[in-house]
Amino acid sequence: MSRDAAIGLFSGGLDSILACRMIQAQGITVLALKFVTPFFDDHLLARREEYCAEILRKYGITVQVVDCGLEYMELLKNPKYGFGKNFNPCVDCKIFMLTRARKMMADAGAAFLITGEVLGQRPMSQRRDTLRVIERESGCEDILLRPLCAKRLPETKPEREGVVDRERLLDFTGRGRRRQMELAEEFGIREYPAPAGGCILTDPNLGGRIDRYYRDRFASGNGRLRENDIRLLLLGRQFHLPGGHWFILGRNQQENDRIQTLADEEDWVLTMTERPGPTGLARRPPLSLDQPAGDELCRLAAGLVVRFGGKKEGRGSRAEVRVRQAGNASKMIVEPLEDSRFLDWRF
Ligand code: SF4
Repeated sequence: MSRDAAIGLFSGGLDSILACRMIQAQGITVLALKFVTPFFDDHLLARREEYCAEILRKYGITVQVVDCGLEYMELLKNPKYGFGKNFNPCVDCKIFMLTRARKMMADAGAAFLITGEVLGQRPMSQRRDTLRVIERESGCEDILLRPLCAKRLPETKPEREGVVDRERLLDFTGRGRRRQMELAEEFGIREYPAPAGGCILTDPNLGGRIDRYYRDRFASGNGRLRENDIRLLLLGRQFHLPGGHWFILGRNQQENDRIQTLADEEDWVLTMTERPGPTGLARRPPLSLDQPAGDELCRLAAGLVVRFGGKKEGRGSRAEVRVRQAGNASKMIVEPLEDSRFLDWRF
């Protein structure tokens, strides 16, 4: 383990950039970790190398993308410190990430950890007592340094041992951004993301959908959590068909394509054959297409596709819908479903 190496939690926001740069400026090597789950920064999984190169070029920070989707999904079942205003378990989330980061220290040859947290910036997760809880529960007491507000917190091991010069650390507090922006200017950082955003667990609508996924397990099949389910849950229009079956409709071409990509073998995938329209997907439908009850449910789903599909001469009218499941496909002609039938099915 090197005394002169640290691991940083890296959200990609200005505070985490500054924390890494401040420690680098003291001659310490920093490996920044970017945690990715279906709830935040999921898209980076498809462009890890490009992202890491971009961060290195823009900020001079070496970053590693860490995919922790399923483990994180488990955490959401019952976070010890509960949820924030929406479905965001911020305290447990930080404990989770720091615990993971601490376990990576030996491999990275790091002697301590850093974050861009600022005392008092967030009402719940950045209060003084909560910062202490996060340190304790993650096993990071004394080795977790928060450079932006370190002077307001007790000295940590790297400071005591002289690895980090405490005099060059800062005393930021609260929600203001002015001092961060001045510091960014000093480091020559002019391009950085706007604060907030990024974590859909804080979004009232999407957070609500995820909450319901966890509560009802309507979609999780035998209680099994799946990243693919969450990706699907964040798209389009969502319905519970009679019997609680989960159905999704794309709202534009991009969502239609995404739905096709996320479809499993067992799902029903519905498309209109003669007019443009949304792609529909029934997740884990109860029956195969050739069974009568499945047919009835399938007709309801097809009716929704036609309802939100392209009109003929300005009016909704019956249309042919193709339904695919695994290697099989069938077609049916259906009327658009009346709005009164499905208003209660939306969520
Ligand atoms: S906003 Fe989201 S990513 Fe950030 S600490 Fe809270 S739960 Fe975690």
